[in-house]
Amino acid sequence: MEFRFTEEQEFFRTAVRDAVDKLIRPRIAAIDEADDFPRELWNEFAALGYLGLRHPEIYGGMDADVVTSMIFYEELGRGSCGFAMSVTMQILMGTYFVGRFGSEAIKQRVLVPAIRGEKIGTICFTEDQSGSDLGGTRTTATRKDDGWVLNGRKMWITNGPICDFCTVLATTDASRGMDGLSFFLVEAGTPGFTSGQQIHKLGSHGSVTGELIFDNVFVPDENLLGDGPGNGVKLTTAILNEVRVMTALSACAIANEAMGDARKYALERAAFGKPIAQYQLIRSKFGSHWAWYEAARLLAYKAAWMIQEKLDCQHECMLAKMFATEMCQSAVDEASRIYGGNSFAMEYPQQRWFRDARFTLFGGGCHEVLLNTLGAAYLRRGPSGA
Ligand SMILES: Cc1cc2nc3c(=O)[nH]c(=O)nc-3n(C[C@H](O)[C@H](O)[C@H](O)COP(=O)(O)OP(=O)(O)OC[C@H]3O[C@@H](n4cnc5c(N)ncnc54)[C@H](O)[C@@H]3O)c2cc1C
Repeated sequence: MEFRFTEEQEFFRTAVRDAVDKLIRPRIAAIDEADDFPRELWNEFAALGYLGLRHPEIYGGMDADVVTSMIFYEELGRGSCGFAMSVTMQILMGTYFVGRFGSEAIKQRVLVPAIRGEKIGTICFTEDQSGSDLGGTRTTATRKDDGWVLNGRKMWITNGPICDFCTVLATTDASRGMDGLSFFLVEAGTPGFTSGQQIHKLGSHGSVTGELIFDNVFVPDENLLGDGPGNGVKLTTAILNEVRVMTALSACAIANEAMGDARKYALERAAFGKPIAQYQLIRSKFGSHWAWYEAARLLAYKAAWMIQEKLDCQHECMLAKMFATEMCQSAVDEASRIYGGNSFAMEYPQQRWFRDARFTLFGGGCHEVLLNTLGAAYLRRGPSGA
């Protein structure tokens, strides 16, 4: 058993940390306030090559292993949560199906410019009436000539209002429920493909989120991503593991930043003649956070390692996500209490960590849905090691 990152991974972490410190952190408050996509920052960040983190070098990618990619997401989480959402969408789900299942022509046309940051991608599962329940997908793809015609609306799409391409989940055979779902590539400029309402969010400002509309959108056969129709849900499972661990490590980063800021505040702020850090009840918040944070991070990196080793780890990825995101809610709450009334003032950073932490509860699967699945699995298989 080895509880150490490799030298290359430590080197990589330092490089990402430097980039986040120089490019993103000085702009966090401005991005939050403007709540607009920071395109200039996007271009500067894309130039560093990280958008190709998980893609092969022949397409301009870095071909990083899973653990290394998680180091990247953790470091990115120390910056702007909204910007991190746009970036992780591009790296993970936005380009995943194109990179894995796209034809060579699609890879050259879509993936290569996406890795350079010149095209922005996203993925569309969610609809007005279905989020956790993909079986409720109403967007249809109907066979026509040598292609497919898509009809429907997708909601809550990160990068949606600015996307150049998207991977859309649609039903190709409604009678087969979850086994009748498939993924299609749709590119901006395709007739019938438009952007609808934009959603103004509580947190994660800087990532733009909205509705995408598909009105008789025709795509050729090669835009069906995956080997044949009906494989959508099966293909989603593989990438969801990575999304869950990424979300867990983003949550760890948010928690750590919130408590790090609170630490400085507690050491400086005085009440009844001494710094509040000297009161046992304040001190215990840090002791407690330290334990939960370390446990959350260990679970997350263990799950990352299991994905990398190609072990069966769907449940471990869920555990990691669930534990870290709950730890994060508690950390931002405790950090806010340490700030007292100032936690309610927009000029302090606590309110932003508090708002941004909320998204981690939904991304990669809602807490209750994961609990439900894990509970059922536990009842089936019994206690660990039994
Ligand atoms: C900022 C943001 C960005 C997003 N970006 C994208 C994106 O780019 N692409 C995309 O496709 N989607 C995106 N989403 C949507 C996100 O994936 C969904 O919000 C998520 O899947 C949950 O779906 P829902 O909101 O419809 O909640 P619902 O599925 O309606 O759930 C509502 C409540 O019911 C609970 N629940 C549901 N089913 C069960 C169950 N079986 N057991 C127990 N409890 C259950 C849930 O836990 C939750 O508490 C984004 C969401 C947000 C907030």
